[in-house]
Amino acid sequence: MASESHQLHILFFPYLARGHMIPMIDMAKMFARRGCKSTLIATPHDEPTFLKSIAKPKSKPKDLGFDINVVMVTLPLKKVGLPEDCDNLNKLTTEEMRKQFLRAITMLDRQLELLIEKLAPDCLISDMFYPWTTEIAAKCGIPRLVFHGSSAFSMVAEECVKLYEPHKKVSCDSEPFVIPNFPGEITLSRTQLPDFIREETELTKFFDVVKEAEKRSFGIVMNSFYELEPAYADHCRTFLGRRSWFVGPFFLCSKEIEDKAHRGNQASIDQHECLKWLDSKQPNSVIYICFGSIANFDDAQLHEIAVGLEASEQQFIWVVKKDPNVEEGKEKWLPNGYESRIRNKGLRGWAPQVLILDHEAIGGFVTHCGWNSILEAVTAGVPVVTWPVAAEQFYNEKLVTQVLKIGVDIGAKQWVRFSGDSVKSERVAEAVKRVLVSEEAEEMRRRARALAEMARGAVEEGGSSWSDLGALIQELKSHKLARSKKI
Ligand code: UDP
Repeated sequence: MASESHQLHILFFPYLARGHMIPMIDMAKMFARRGCKSTLIATPHDEPTFLKSIAKPKSKPKDLGFDINVVMVTLPLKKVGLPEDCDNLNKLTTEEMRKQFLRAITMLDRQLELLIEKLAPDCLISDMFYPWTTEIAAKCGIPRLVFHGSSAFSMVAEECVKLYEPHKKVSCDSEPFVIPNFPGEITLSRTQLPDFIREETELTKFFDVVKEAEKRSFGIVMNSFYELEPAYADHCRTFLGRRSWFVGPFFLCSKEIEDKAHRGNQASIDQHECLKWLDSKQPNSVIYICFGSIANFDDAQLHEIAVGLEASEQQFIWVVKKDPNVEEGKEKWLPNGYESRIRNKGLRGWAPQVLILDHEAIGGFVTHCGWNSILEAVTAGVPVVTWPVAAEQFYNEKLVTQVLKIGVDIGAKQWVRFSGDSVKSERVAEAVKRVLVSEEAEEMRRRARALAEMARGAVEEGGSSWSDLGALIQELKSHKLARSKKI
């Protein structure tokens, strides 16, 4: 391990939503494995999940050079009018609550400043949703790196759309346009853009502030690897002029089963039981369906999925969010006699996703195109059915279907926060069969496997992500040295 004076200490400040927390915890581990001291900021509610995620595997010796801690901040929820237990984005149900939540987060500025004074880290890596942290880091004399949580493809696509406004030059919502000055002739329609891009809202202004803060930061740490999206990584660096380090997939630094099983939440199924069930299946014969931590379909849509999956006649593991008010198996959307007829795995709650995707029985993944899910599918060599819902997911869909060519789209045409576009059961059945048992499935799987190999190669010693991380650590060390000479 590096000696105390030379060891870099990095403070990680994740956004309080599972899709952001999970990769940042992985990133903290990744830096720790390269000899840095990592400190993660959590809220009292999330602390147990953080501690579980960073617990050292029992089977490993203690002296791994693995130096990682958790410290806490408390959200002033009462002050903004939110109930005490609303300390994570995943628990908020209305637009108003989300605004209050963002306000509460902004009020963490003083707590962050005090933490930096007390812990004296050499660098802050904070989520893009915390633009105000650029100023605090500057005031404390340390660099701030931004964590984006998505692909270079989506980041650059959105900037090009904002810059050239092609969506304002089409005659109707459904008319396709090509994203200007963006590699690959990528087409989108207005309905597939986020609402805050289609029209000016409070969020439009917020994201402008995010971008400005990003430009003034030290750079961006990307949970991606260069070989996955070289043209877009280059465009990010040269056209947008952003200093960026492609050091992912972060989660590949977790090698132990226990480590992978407890990412983000307590799984609601015993991983051993789940893996045993998969062990009894043929390779590439099961489809996995999961829409991340935020998307939430209504009963009518869940019913369409259930009918579509049955009609596809394929085996599946389907993760459905738990409804605390309804007894399991008695949900209104469940077709009569479904669970006794369909001898598959329906799972309410949280799945050990990475373990499931890694199993050879999994032949396809129906996903909402959250970046973590895409990266996990790519790394497992599993082709996908793309069903984007909101956020930057429609861009990610294009990367998967038009550039990487490892997926088929379900035909979602409308960006709708949380619930997405409605999709009929016939489309579900058709897309599932296309990705699992068609001729094109083999071709997609071959391409996905090649990418999986590249992903693993990237994080190995000498690989692109390994080297980029080494270069970043080196730069941060030089910065630390220069700073210590000034003091
Ligand atoms: N995830 C999981 N089990 C679940 C649902 C999600 O482990 O039942 C993990 C998934 O592996 C991924 C993250 O939660 O790492 C979801 O992130 P993503 O970017 O795909 O979507 P988001 O939740 O941000 O919409």
